[in-house]
Amino acid sequence: MTPQPHTRRPAPARNPDTARFLTGPKGRTAALTLPGRWAEQALCAQADPDAWYPDKGGSSAIARRICGACPVRPQCLDYALSGADTWHGIATGIWGGTTPRERAAMRRARKAAAA
Ligand code: SF4
Repeated sequence: MTPQPHTRRPAPARNPDTARFLTGPKGRTAALTLPGRWAEQALCAQADPDAWYPDKGGSSAIARRICGACPVRPQCLDYALSGADTWHGIATGIWGGTTPRERAAMRRARKAAAA
């Protein structure tokens, strides 16, 4: 008997997005904690993680477009702004559809609002 598509839900595998949160730019291992269940809905789990860490001068357009449709974008951005985007003191990568420069501006704005 030929298996019918969509009749069986795939077993919960290790969420590929976990790798994104457990590795830093270009796959360097980081000691980050898992962010929570929301990461299971991350659209970047289905894409090339390198798109979220473009080389200097490279385009982040694809990552930002995918982020724009991601259902957990707010959670992702909050997580990034909490410091998860920081690698050895430097914010990196596209998180919640934002660049490190955009998040730096957000952090300054939050700091100013809190003062
Ligand atoms: S907003 Fe972007 S970086 Fe964040 S989880 Fe979604 S696809 Fe990934």
